Amino acid sequence: MDNVTPLGGDVYEIDTRMAGYSGITAGYLILGDRPCLVETGTSTSAPVVRDALASLGVGPDDLATVVVTHIHLDHAGGVGDIAGYFPSAEIVVHEKGARHLADPTRLMASAKMVWGDRLDTLFGTLSPTDASRIRALGDVGTVDLGNGRSLASHYSPGHAKHHVGLLDSLTGDLYVGDAAGVYLPETGDLRPASPPPDFDLEVALRSLGLFEALGPQRLLFSHYGPVDDVPATLERSAEELRVWVDLTRQARSDGLDLDHAVAMVRDRTRERYTALQADPATAERFELLSGAESNVGGIMHWLDRSGA
Ligand SMILES: [Zn+2]
Repeated sequence: MDNVTPLGGDVYEIDTRMAGYSGITAGYLILGDRPCLVETGTSTSAPVVRDALASLGVGPDDLATVVVTHIHLDHAGGVGDIAGYFPSAEIVVHEKGARHLADPTRLMASAKMVWGDRLDTLFGTLSPTDASRIRALGDVGTVDLGNGRSLASHYSPGHAKHHVGLLDSLTGDLYVGDAAGVYLPETGDLRPASPPPDFDLEVALRSLGLFEALGPQRLLFSHYGPVDDVPATLERSAEELRVWVDLTRQARSDGLDLDHAVAMVRDRTRERYTALQADPATAERFELLSGAESNVGGIMHWLDRSGA
């Protein structure tokens, strides 16, 4: 299938085609004795993911595990649907996110407040998953991939308080979710992902430090794809966060309201990103995943909360 890319080590990248876009949301299948899907994508992505798994020989009873890095709808919105398609799969998520997968009412209500009318077209609706099928992770945990291979989960808040990174014992791949920001493979751009309500700079930087200490061989971004140059990329993630926080802090101390702060930070960071000088479609995709409004809003929220 044209949305499945082999990455070596029995790992397959699946373009989950959020809202019909290509190249913005990735799920990953780790094949082997106990096939494991990392990230489901949105609810509307679920049939796309099911078909991709079928093309890799993973039928309804074959999927052992579904694990999500966090419960934002672009990563976990399809959990309920995928759990329905694959009745043998165990659903693995950090303990701070588990109850929202069992009962998505509050999560969907807050997403509706953020996205309004765009919610349905962008994400669809997260369906509930039977609580008995959900396994909650603590600060560390393990997913058995079979044959002595495993994924080790590491609690990595900052972007979201229910975020984990996942390290593959065989390949050294680290699934970074959104904790290292948003990477655009076409341009090599990297932009922070600092949305409200959980973003916290110190916590996010600590998670990046943890990722570095794990010594991964490769980073697998949910947005989007593999990156081999690990230390330089993680350093850049930290630098991006500092730049956005510094500018937002400045806007705030100049007394700008949110709209003006967003405009100022967007303007002052524009030249950092090739995608924003590229065609409007590329710029639009980048903005959808790591919007200046969401990033600056998240940083403002954190500054207000921390009294910094
Ligand atoms: Zn995301």
